[in-house]
Amino acid sequence: MTQAARAAQVIRPAIEPAPPPGGADDTEQSLYEIRRKIYPRAVHGWFAAWRWALVWLTQIVFYGLPWLQWNDRQAVLFDLAARKFYIFGFVFWPQDFIYLTLLLVISALALFLFTAVAGRLWCGYACPQTVYTEIFLWIEEKIEGKRLERMRLDQAPLGPRKFGLKVLKHAVWIALALWTGFTFVGYFTPVIELGREVTALSTGPWETFWILFYGFATYGNAGWMREQVCKYMCPYARFQGVMFDKDTLIVTYDPARGEPRGPRSRRADARALGLGDCVNCDMCVQVCPTGIDIRNGLQYECIGCAACIDACDQVMERMGYSKG
Ligand code: SF4
Ligand code: SF4
Repeated sequence: MTQAARAAQVIRPAIEPAPPPGGADDTEQSLYEIRRKIYPRAVHGWFAAWRWALVWLTQIVFYGLPWLQWNDRQAVLFDLAARKFYIFGFVFWPQDFIYLTLLLVISALALFLFTAVAGRLWCGYACPQTVYTEIFLWIEEKIEGKRLERMRLDQAPLGPRKFGLKVLKHAVWIALALWTGFTFVGYFTPVIELGREVTALSTGPWETFWILFYGFATYGNAGWMREQVCKYMCPYARFQGVMFDKDTLIVTYDPARGEPRGPRSRRADARALGLGDCVNCDMCVQVCPTGIDIRNGLQYECIGCAACIDACDQVMERMGYSKG
């Protein structure tokens, strides 16, 4: 190759004409998916009852445990300053760290086992992100109304009513989030003492930081981010797929029964119309906290909460079809 040819090759990229507008080279691929706000419809049924039972159970334990007294001291207290962990009648020292390691190993293995056997049980029923989102959504519904009312409110221009409802909702969310932060710190500082300090506005810098930090995380994750945490932040959501096998219990749609989907009257003979059992009502999509359509197959966004099963069961019942 001559020197000129080499030079021409080097400068070619700079002097090449720009690709025509609208051409394939012009396409820009955004790496950021614009969020579509999800307005989950409230749902009732067998699985919703289980989810709420676990919300109650986990929250009674979390909020109540620091207040429990045991032999004239807090029953569960992780006293970091004194390097002593009190758990009911037991006192653990730093050299007992092996027990914590053992507990964490057993917990991790149990989580893997449950996921392999029963899918995303943890995500759908016990994960704090799910539990707090459920509570925050419940508050939102009580203040702003049901799904359609919430959608209309968000689309409406800002007026006194909308402003009042939004302020009230966020005030209740923040109060709950701060109470959560206070409770969390109450596992590390004697809670009664901490309560006195909070009412006197005399908490120390670390206590103040952790109450605010934990409160802010609760408010942000359950009030604002919600399904985004499961979709983009949680590593567990990403690697659960590899623990599934053909016997894992998953929430899924049965196309053999549901397809071809389509609306019909309750009295119509679906088979004579050439239809399956899915009436295409969209209820399973409307109740989904992650906003997916389970009829498109298993998706990593599905947290296995089974709200879509509860919703579809209600529809099947109304149509006079078998549930499940
Ligand atoms: S709730 Fe059931 S019937 Fe309605 S669209 Fe979903 S799968 Fe079909
Ligand atoms: S599709 Fe949605 S509603 Fe159904 S189990 Fe998954 S996350 Fe829950």
